[in-house]
Amino acid sequence: MEKAEGLATRLDRCRRCGAKTRKGSPCQCKPEPGQDRCKLHGGKSTGPKTEAIRESNRRRAQARREALQLAPL
Ligand SMILES: [Zn+2]
Repeated sequence: MEKAEGLATRLDRCRRCGAKTRKGSPCQCKPEPGQDRCKLHGGKSTGPKTEAIRESNRRRAQARREALQLAPL
């Protein structure tokens, strides 16, 4: 038990990506400099480049929300 607590405190102290992994646990990778996420979870991304891309993303997100509402798991 003591060992596990020591590990948890150490992990709390240093910043971690924290994105949800496929296992459902938080990602323990180090974030990219100046980012909140590691390179595997969008830390390399600088976001959508143009308004057209932002609009496309919005539409796809909206379509996904509607699909999930119509067919809940
Ligand atoms: Zn990550």
